[in-house]
Amino acid sequence: MLAIEGLSKHFGGVQAVHRVDLQVRGNEILGLIGPNGSGKSTIVNVVTGVFPPTEGRVRLRDRDITGWPPHRVLAAGMGRTFQGIRIFGGLTVWQNLWVAQKAKSEEGEGGLLRRWLAVDRASMKKIEATLEFCRLRDKKDELARNLAFGEQRRLELARVLAAEPDLLLLDEPAAGMNAAEIEDLRDRILALKQRGKTVVLIEHHMELVMGIAERVAVLNFGEKIAEGPPAAVQDDERVREAYLGHRQGGGQA
Ligand code: ADP
Ligand code: MG
Repeated sequence: MLAIEGLSKHFGGVQAVHRVDLQVRGNEILGLIGPNGSGKSTIVNVVTGVFPPTEGRVRLRDRDITGWPPHRVLAAGMGRTFQGIRIFGGLTVWQNLWVAQKAKSEEGEGGLLRRWLAVDRASMKKIEATLEFCRLRDKKDELARNLAFGEQRRLELARVLAAEPDLLLLDEPAAGMNAAEIEDLRDRILALKQRGKTVVLIEHHMELVMGIAERVAVLNFGEKIAEGPPAAVQDDERVREAYLGHRQGGGQA
């Protein structure tokens, strides 16, 4: 589904990501873990076109998408959530999804706000199905900023789903969630797999990742240091050292 080949992203002297190779198979849940600052979000940013790589290639199915702008990457079937909440607080819940649904077009999210009145029935049906899936249907007409934290998190997931990607990159979706919310998130991710989606799950919450990922890849200082089934990765000496050597914040940093 996704092939990352020799990918590097350097910010001045900082080697945020260095020569990473990573493959994501269709319909799998791949965990991507690593201490804070190890390059996880940077990989997501580079593969989704937020900024170009310093070197390396990104392939989505049979297409080389290296350097493509975000709306084209999304249209090609790869969507992502952001670490930290990014929603339009001044729009209602369903309006947030409508904007996300149209984010595949070149005019981008900003230019879309002018087209409110053109909301069509087919779009609205899909929006309602996605809200149902994320248990937000009764919040449809609330302003996003008035939602509780857990609901805002669900809205973020709903927003990426609204664009109907085949591959989802979830950047620390459990950050700040309580146990019940994490349980619910786990169910949502497993349901997405059942629906044929491919998921890359970036998470600090080990129980969640190790419980649902079929394979786990580990980054440390921008380099991939291990990859394999959860049990093998947990027993890996280098992985243990990487985590012991860092003080884990465990927050949203
Ligand atoms: P993670 O998501 O694993 O916590 P990041 O990918 O956010 O790690 O960061 C990896 C490294 O790259 C860090 O040292 C971070 O400070 C640096 N970095 C990330 N984004 C930028 C940026 N836009 N400009 C400069 N440095 C960055
Ligand atoms: Mg990050």
